[in-house]
Amino acid sequence: MKALSEKVSGIASSATLDIADRAKAMVRQGIDVISLSIGEPDFDTPTHIREACCDSLRRGDTHYAPSRGIPELLQAITGKIQAENGFACSTEQVIATAGAKHAIAMAMEACLNPGDEVILLDPAWVSYEPCVQLAGGRVVHHRMSEKTFLPDDRLLDRITGKTKMIVVNSPSNPTGAVFDRKALKLIADICTDYELLAMSDEIYEKLIYGKEHISIASIGDMAGKTITINGFSKAYAMTGWRLGYAVAPVEIIRQMTKIQQHGVTHPTTFVMWGGVAAISGDQACVGMMKKEFESRRMFLMDEFSEMKVQAAPADGAFYAFINARGDDVDVAEFWLNKARVAVTPGSAFNAPGWIRISYATAMPRIREAMARIRSVWNEAPDRKR
Ligand code: PMP
Ligand code: GLU
Repeated sequence: MKALSEKVSGIASSATLDIADRAKAMVRQGIDVISLSIGEPDFDTPTHIREACCDSLRRGDTHYAPSRGIPELLQAITGKIQAENGFACSTEQVIATAGAKHAIAMAMEACLNPGDEVILLDPAWVSYEPCVQLAGGRVVHHRMSEKTFLPDDRLLDRITGKTKMIVVNSPSNPTGAVFDRKALKLIADICTDYELLAMSDEIYEKLIYGKEHISIASIGDMAGKTITINGFSKAYAMTGWRLGYAVAPVEIIRQMTKIQQHGVTHPTTFVMWGGVAAISGDQACVGMMKKEFESRRMFLMDEFSEMKVQAAPADGAFYAFINARGDDVDVAEFWLNKARVAVTPGSAFNAPGWIRISYATAMPRIREAMARIRSVWNEAPDRKR
């Protein structure tokens, strides 16, 4: 249609959200679908966080707030970054956003000029590429090894005169890989040598099983070249609140603030008070949820190892990423129709042949889903045994 923007027509819709919507529609029709598709914690937001938001509403916090966010939240984020992520930042380097996704989109818009290249380390989360495209940039794909799912020296081959940024996502959605210091140092060195920016999406930092989280901004002088993205959706089960943030050099935050002012103005005022309570309050809730994710992860990993199915590391986040041994889209479609289990095809992450299984669902449902998958495993179309 002539009236539409070519830029927007040219981007893909979000496969993670599309599949989740489809599974929800089937459930509404009375079909017993188990959704292991979307990455959304099944827990409710902890009570003290909800109370902080209600208190804010009761106080009458129903007005506009400063466009980068309420000072109390910016202060809490600054303190958290210094205490947990190992680099210094001032409150001027922080912007609160309506979800981490919007922080990513605004950071791309703030940094990219037409034709600038952004390197994605595939398999990469679904929304990075559209965010780059909407900002006028071009994605360059670097495929990581299917053994480690970490970047190696071949990354250097992707650098051109137009490269502007490398996107890092550790722990990774969809593979669960946690980048070690060597992998991060490699990226940091490339950013330094070629004067590139790093965007580091650390939204799963609190969900790591037996490894350590390292923020790339804490390496060398990377704080001056990194946009660190984080949010509340995963660690505090706050997906519907739409609250995230970015920490970056002041000049980038200034540009992002203009975009925010002319777009959503700021994240919802009373929601931000929930964010303050999340960061400043008791962290026991995070540990409790992590423990539950960990036992689900162990169950799934044991299942796949028994079935001799190749799986990515799953050291963090809440995804199992497995080799579909066939066309991933066909296999996912088959599982949905035949086994009534919704999963996300790896193609959504530029990893055809793989399947992402979210274990952010209660254990009894995961057990049932695995029983269903096992019952159709050998029947799936195109199956290369
Ligand atoms: N980054 C990654 C890797 C994610 O999986 C998600 C999932 N929603 C986001 C960013 C965005 O999170 P939100 O917008 O809910 O804060
Ligand atoms: N990030 C989650 C996922 O990958 C939630 C959906 C989305 O925002 O993409 O499933």
